[in-house]
Amino acid sequence: AKRTRRGSTLIYSDDMKGEQERRLMIGQFLKQAIKAGEFALAFQPVVAASLDSIDAHETLLRWNNRVLGPVSPDEFIPIAEETGEIVTIGAYVLDEALRQYAASGLAARAGKLAINLSLLQIVTPGLTEQVRAALARHRISAHKLVLEVTESIFDDRNSSLINTVLTGLHKDGIEIHLDDFGTGYSSLSRLHEMPITALKIDKSFVQKGDAQATAIIEGSVLIARQFGIRVIAEGVETLEQAQSLQAIGVDALQGYLFSRPVPGFQETVTVNPQEQL
Ligand code: C2E
Ligand code: CA
Ligand code: CA
Ligand code: CA
Repeated sequence: AKRTRRGSTLIYSDDMKGEQERRLMIGQFLKQAIKAGEFALAFQPVVAASLDSIDAHETLLRWNNRVLGPVSPDEFIPIAEETGEIVTIGAYVLDEALRQYAASGLAARAGKLAINLSLLQIVTPGLTEQVRAALARHRISAHKLVLEVTESIFDDRNSSLINTVLTGLHKDGIEIHLDDFGTGYSSLSRLHEMPITALKIDKSFVQKGDAQATAIIEGSVLIARQFGIRVIAEGVETLEQAQSLQAIGVDALQGYLFSRPVPGFQETVTVNPQEQL
């Protein structure tokens, strides 16, 4: 809701009401979205810093509701987390992404398959079995799967349960990447508490490009080396950003410079000349 000084209380509360109503509507519509066939998956390549291979494709959920039209995941994922619907939606994403990855015939050449996981999925019993069953169903090796988790895994009362679940998945051969790194409250010193195999530097640091943001990226690379884990930078839009990240020693790059999230998997990527400007 927009706070306006001049606006009367009525306008303010109307605004609030509109926002609240939209949230409720989204929550309701989300319950039917799978059945209604309203979800689609987009995939965005993660490119090795040497630019000679694709490390992975990240799965990003898209929703086009019959009434609301396209709704951004930044808007509907938090609502799905609040209502609990993310558990069902997450299971759908996992199965559908693996299905498309297997059906593409590119699993051998398109790098690994990365999927975003919400905290609620991790603390809901059955995730490990669900992941194993989906991998088996589509005949994909656990070594091909990356699960992206956020720093919320450190902040939870359930951290020992979370550790047990993630450690089990990691022992299967699945990679666990820490997403949006630098935006949360996880201190670097807590990294060893979870089986993290890579840090994904949040795009805000990549795009700021000032001395402070650069220092944070450099520091993350140094720490990651100490822990023997990799560093991925997201939100890379310009050649200048890519070159600076390569110089810092980041292992992999992801962003519009290489490709927007699109349907299907890519075997090669080229720098998008439009984004170079
Ligand atoms: P995220 O996991 O941090 O994903 C990266 C976001 O940055 C994506 O937004 C992607 O489209 C966008 N992006 C990629 N390259 C660039 C770039 O060069 N510049 C800019 N400005 N943005 C770039 P998207 O697809 O809107 O997703 C937003 C968030 O929604 C994701 O952030 C993730 O937290 C969540 N999300 C998306 N799909 C899923 C899902 O299947 N499950 C869960 N739990 N969360 C999801
Ligand atoms: Ca992610
Ligand atoms: Ca991210
Ligand atoms: Ca994010």
